[in-house]
Amino acid sequence: MSTSLDKDTLQSAARHLCLLCGALLLLGPLFACAPIAESVAFEPPVVSGSFEDPIDPQPSLDGQAPADFHAPAARHAPAAQHAPVVQQAPAVQMTPVSQQEPLRISFVAAGDNLIHEPIYSYHEGFDYSDLYASVRPLIETADVAYVNQESICGGEELGLSGRFPRFNSPSGILDALAASGFDWVGTANNHTLDFGAEGVLSQLARIEELGLTQSGTAASPSAAQQPTVILVQGVRIGLANYTLSTNGIVGPPGSEYLVATLTPRSSGLQFEDGADQASFLAPPLSPASTLRLLTDLRQLEAVSDLQIVSMHWGEEGDHMPNAQQRALARLLADNGVDAIIGSHPHVVQPLEFIATAQGAQVPVAWSLGNFLSAQQQPEELRGALAHWTFVYDPQTGETKIEDARLVAIHTRISADDHGYFVSPG
Ligand SMILES: [Zn+2]
Repeated sequence: MSTSLDKDTLQSAARHLCLLCGALLLLGPLFACAPIAESVAFEPPVVSGSFEDPIDPQPSLDGQAPADFHAPAARHAPAAQHAPVVQQAPAVQMTPVSQQEPLRISFVAAGDNLIHEPIYSYHEGFDYSDLYASVRPLIETADVAYVNQESICGGEELGLSGRFPRFNSPSGILDALAASGFDWVGTANNHTLDFGAEGVLSQLARIEELGLTQSGTAASPSAAQQPTVILVQGVRIGLANYTLSTNGIVGPPGSEYLVATLTPRSSGLQFEDGADQASFLAPPLSPASTLRLLTDLRQLEAVSDLQIVSMHWGEEGDHMPNAQQRALARLLADNGVDAIIGSHPHVVQPLEFIATAQGAQVPVAWSLGNFLSAQQQPEELRGALAHWTFVYDPQTGETKIEDARLVAIHTRISADDHGYFVSPG
């Protein structure tokens, strides 16, 4: 990161938050149930338990929302005892680079890895590496390779689900991603809580076993506040991943740390049970979420040389970024983020650059479409890999981007019409 946080923005967000808190105090009796998750401190309980009715229809932006859904929060089971608690690896002391010459770090990013039932049922065993074998050379050659794991990989023990609205994928999918050369898995998206805390914790455990780096979910409040940094060629790369929705699914009170969620201001489109389906569509972030994001970025900047942020945003099926995406990307770029990856629309949106006042050109891959899915529309079967090279100058601390491009991929359907695989081109 070559710039520091925009103090005016941070102070403005803090002011708005104070105004918001003041207003809530005054209006508290009227809006006693108003969610202000970001500003609420909570004791870290051992969070666990499954979210009941995992295949009940839920509102989702991945398809048509059923008309008769009920507020999922009201049906959550209380936290079960003896929950699995996944400990993140202890922080590693990293030594900043001392080389004189600029360092080149190649990067590749893939889109939504959304594992529908036909994808895993086509396999007799638990080795899914052939799903990605055709694009493996494009992935494993990069110094840093990223993918958005759209469906939670909670594993067979929780019961697999490969259909909307709630997914749970085999943990072997994570093994296949690791074998294909991915280093960094984004885990915050609108399906992260599909199988509750158990799904999140199970996925985290497998990711840790495989030695992958993830961002977006955490097994404890302290882990959620720990910046994610990887060391590549001596360069400390800070990673972060946020979602703008969990499809209206919320965990028990105090479990907000499970997934990094940024909340927009209310869209005003409320449904009978109070759920707000339009959170992906609403413009700007709430003051509390803005403050949280900028605080996170400042912490990440303090421990890394360059930063990459992945956002789960946008409108499904839309080939161009919306106003909310543009505003958020501008906020990230103006606060020193060096590259931005987007996911969720399930179709490809352009790769663009944002010019900052500090002279940086920040690449934004607004949406890379599906990496793998069994969705049926032709545009959902075409995706992209984002490629570029970070050129980091240890003398100045500045990062430049070279050779940025999108590379086409597509979902290949087997001759018998039942298997789905990622293919280049
Ligand atoms: Zn999504």
